[in-house]
Amino acid sequence: MTTLAGVLGWPVAHSRSPAIHNAAYEALGLDWRYLRLPVPPRRFDETVRALGRSGYRGANVTVPHKLAALSAALDVSPAAREIGAANSLELADGAVVADNTDAGGFLDALGDTRPQVATVLGSGGSARAIVWALRQAGAEVSVWNRTPERARELAERFGVEAVERPRASDLLVNCTTVGLDPAVGLEEAVAALSLEGLDPPAAVFDLVYRDGGTPVCAWAQRGGARVIDGLEMLVRQGARSFEAWTGRPAPLEVMRAAVRVSA
Ligand code: NAP
Repeated sequence: MTTLAGVLGWPVAHSRSPAIHNAAYEALGLDWRYLRLPVPPRRFDETVRALGRSGYRGANVTVPHKLAALSAALDVSPAAREIGAANSLELADGAVVADNTDAGGFLDALGDTRPQVATVLGSGGSARAIVWALRQAGAEVSVWNRTPERARELAERFGVEAVERPRASDLLVNCTTVGLDPAVGLEEAVAALSLEGLDPPAAVFDLVYRDGGTPVCAWAQRGGARVIDGLEMLVRQGARSFEAWTGRPAPLEVMRAAVRVSA
């Protein structure tokens, strides 16, 4: 029988995860299939319970379900508990185990770079995972957000500093949605993120991805920074889920090729 996996979101039509996972199953000759699972918030819990009984071995979780995924789980990894959100559910024998592979996927995508001082832009769901990951990696972290109150809350929770303007650092990470909208160009993005007058640091990581590249990546490239884009993180968080569910090493090159043609 074909083993199933999928991504739970609302909406979820834009997700590139099916392309990444299905290419990996095919490359390894696994009889698995990964599907989009559009589920409204009111149906999330019952759907998660039903998936385990319906041939599903795992599910990724995207907006707006990452908080609900924690409470739907019977068992929660330390990373997911400390971050306060989950994006990966392992479903086996009636059990639901929640993990947060955004944090580990981010560090995997960062590679050997281990910043001493990092600046995080944003204070939403992804910023929590990134700040947690950077603290685990031993970095000194400052957080800037358009709404300063949210930056202060996040900073307090994770024991880092909230700042009024992004600071000079070894690594800057964009965890805002700025750049998602193709109508937003370089100057507008720089202004929205209060980056005027700041030189790009040695490395810039943009969680946002879109065809043709993002304004934050363009800003970083213009300043000669090493740029890591959101597609590499998408692949790496997916690879962690893939390995947890299948027990097989993820074919990263296959997954990278699939994510870049699946727009
Ligand atoms: P979220 O919880 O909705 O947070 C959005 C953040 O963006 C908030 O800090 C918000 O600031 C800020 N923001 C929105 N519009 C802004 C503007 N015009 N100017 C300045 N700041 C603005 O979103 P999220 O879940 O953290 O996701 C953030 C981005 O990361 C999304 O694009 C998502 O697709 C991407 N992401 C990528 C991956 C990956 O694998 N590559 C994984 C996770 C997320 P306020 O607090 O002021 O509203």
